[in-house]
Amino acid sequence: MTTSEILLSDSALRNNLDFIRSLIGEDVRISSVVKSNAYGHGIEEFVPLAIRYGIDHFSVFSSDEAFRIMEIAAGECEVMIMGYLSDEDFDQIIKKEIQFYVFDLERLKKAAAFAKRVGKKAIIHLEIETGMNRTGIKKADMLQLVSLLNENRDYLHIKGLCTHYAGAESIANHVRIKRQLRNFNQTDKWLRSKGIDIEIRHTACSAASISYPKTRMDMVRIGILQYGFWPSKETFIHYIHGKESKADPLKGVLRWQSAVMSIKTVKEGEFISYGTAYQAQEDKRIAVVPVGYYHGYTRSLSNQGRVLINEQRADVIGMVNMNMLVCDVSHIEDIELGDEVVLIGKQGELNISVASFGEFNSMMNYELLTRLPSNISRNVII
Ligand SMILES: *Cc1c(COP(=O)(O)O)cnc(C)c1O
Repeated sequence: MTTSEILLSDSALRNNLDFIRSLIGEDVRISSVVKSNAYGHGIEEFVPLAIRYGIDHFSVFSSDEAFRIMEIAAGECEVMIMGYLSDEDFDQIIKKEIQFYVFDLERLKKAAAFAKRVGKKAIIHLEIETGMNRTGIKKADMLQLVSLLNENRDYLHIKGLCTHYAGAESIANHVRIKRQLRNFNQTDKWLRSKGIDIEIRHTACSAASISYPKTRMDMVRIGILQYGFWPSKETFIHYIHGKESKADPLKGVLRWQSAVMSIKTVKEGEFISYGTAYQAQEDKRIAVVPVGYYHGYTRSLSNQGRVLINEQRADVIGMVNMNMLVCDVSHIEDIELGDEVVLIGKQGELNISVASFGEFNSMMNYELLTRLPSNISRNVII
């Protein structure tokens, strides 16, 4: 028994995928991004649900995550590694027909060499540097890229051409994103003019899919949106602009809950928990919850976080400890030991969507979700 548990809502995921499909249309394929243990939702629990609702392509960061998907869903979907791939894993990746990014010529040479040895084509996605300046094949390497691709035709299946935008969730990056899109389209055209046969093009993450329709192309790589969170407030505002209904079409898939472990009263003037971060301005009733930063509840939510108990909000007060947090439940009359505490998600009519914690930037959602430890028990509900 862990001190908290995670529940995944089947119907919320279906709702979110329906929404995304209605937005991008039936012709654009969705690759469900399940890196970082499916953004904390759990690969083993999330992937079968997504498959049930029609997802047949998954994106991960590294080979270990790809292997986990193959364990539970080989033959039911395609899997694509966008990042790390160790030399020991190349053989297995190629044998299992797992797709992977090629973001420099070194990896391209390796892919061809391993494919030759295995006797099977490597299924690759060429990632192009368009302006993010992270991974991606540079313009200066393009001629050499073309000759390497031509030399190794027998060992390579060029499945995709792709890139990633440097912050499509923020209007501050608008000019840079537009330039990246232009660079991508130019490179695409140029490669085709050199006779390079590319099956699909994909560039958009959640934010780009919403705010820059031209980035959708043949496939979109959707992470945060499918889990029911907006990449940023700006992206939500962009979506809602000019719409009649201002209601949020997304539903949170994940509920993270624990239970009240201890209740007590504290006198006015006393400091609560470590140090002097919080002083009671009047007599208080507090509840201790057995979840701390070890369990993924970040310390930056000290004096900032909110939880739900008995369908009411309660503030997290004082520092978040390693294994516990304290909340102010002075206003919750009938609270008892063992009462459910919701840290993320819905309880009754109220909802803790991660982003609503104080004035945090949008990256908070991504970080909080992906830090949910993999050993918390996860179960699917309707
Ligand atoms: C994580 C990631 C995505 C998905 O991003 P979201 O904002 O969660 O939709 C897409 N593409 C790449 C390359 C990524 O690393």
